[in-house]
Amino acid sequence: MSHKNYPESKNLNVPPRLLLGPGPSNAHPRVLQSMTGPMIGYLDPDFMKIIEEVSQLLKPVFGTKNNATLAISGTGSAGMEAGLNSLLEPGDTVIMCICGFFGLRMKEMAERLGANVIILESEWGKPFPVEILKNEFKNHKQVKLVTIVQAETSTGVFQNLDEISTLTQQHDSLLMVDAVTSLGGNNVDVDKYKIDYCYSATQKCLACPPGLSPVAISQRALESVKNRNQKPSSWYLDLNLIANYWGEDHIYHHTAPVSNIIGLREGLKIILEEGIESRIYRHLKNSLALRAGLTSLGLELVVEGDHSLPQITPVWIPKGVDDAIVRTSLLQDYGIEIGRGLGEFAGRVWRIGLMGESSKPENIFALLSALEKILPNLGYEIAQGSGVAGASSFLAKSD
Ligand SMILES: *Cc1c(COP(=O)(O)O)cnc(C)c1O
Repeated sequence: MSHKNYPESKNLNVPPRLLLGPGPSNAHPRVLQSMTGPMIGYLDPDFMKIIEEVSQLLKPVFGTKNNATLAISGTGSAGMEAGLNSLLEPGDTVIMCICGFFGLRMKEMAERLGANVIILESEWGKPFPVEILKNEFKNHKQVKLVTIVQAETSTGVFQNLDEISTLTQQHDSLLMVDAVTSLGGNNVDVDKYKIDYCYSATQKCLACPPGLSPVAISQRALESVKNRNQKPSSWYLDLNLIANYWGEDHIYHHTAPVSNIIGLREGLKIILEEGIESRIYRHLKNSLALRAGLTSLGLELVVEGDHSLPQITPVWIPKGVDDAIVRTSLLQDYGIEIGRGLGEFAGRVWRIGLMGESSKPENIFALLSALEKILPNLGYEIAQGSGVAGASSFLAKSD
């Protein structure tokens, strides 16, 4: 019997894509394979072993021996909201250091919590200047929390946390860091910078599907959540309740996303097999090859130098070239996804991600040769083969 308003049943067709945007990146085949196993209960003793293993595997990737490590159900934004919701009570002062789109998302969340939100904004495409924070501290008796993004995916900037960490310690404030894009691609160094709450996501440099937000929480931060005057307004994102499930007693909170956690375990094992330093070096080397190719095409990078992020490369869209036509052609004709600009960079930049499994020389060549085909049709003249040659000669020199 057929129902007129019901779509014909067809085989599911998810086209294979080369994901070279700001996330999701291509998941590792071993991760996807691991997620197809049988279902298991969220309090099954064998699943508890997996939970404990994931927690241990996260520690070296976050660079922590001391902090509690676990994975929150939900994407990176869930980790962000769990942190703000649990660490801030109405009236608490939080200083937010913002130089990109994801810093602004934190602001949006904090303002909904009735906290005393102090916004420090600086220029996009540059690291946050620590002087501004230093001066702002003079205006406050007690600052509960300072927030910053370590890898601003919207601008391509890596934020060194040295001085920010020293300042927050001097003023006895908690430090919350967004490591959504940095985890698995940079040294996050949670212990070195004494980060109290650090959150990430599985779909960027960890090469897993979206759905979990791995976090590292200091004892001091956990104490602060336990000792709140009022419980956090969100029950689901209450860090105390989540930590109790991941802790020794495994107290039921909500149904854990079993398959995603099993996938994360595989992803973390792959990272440790490759070695964290080798993985970081791979991201760096491939980003330099991509940039050699892009600049050979005459394209201009938004960020250059030590503070540029290896896993995401924003480039200025050349004058007269249509942003959407290029991205659509890459996707439809070549199966390649790159990212568009966000916020004040919307329509002005493309963001090319080389994250996790996507960070490979063959992917760089695929993108550069596609651009060599597309751009001349839109009036942007380039010497055929120059982009690929630029990347190739960089890679030949680098090993
Ligand atoms: C992607 C991203 C987020 C948001 O994560 P979702 O997984 O999309 O919720 C937050 N911060 C940064 C720096 C990101 O790159």
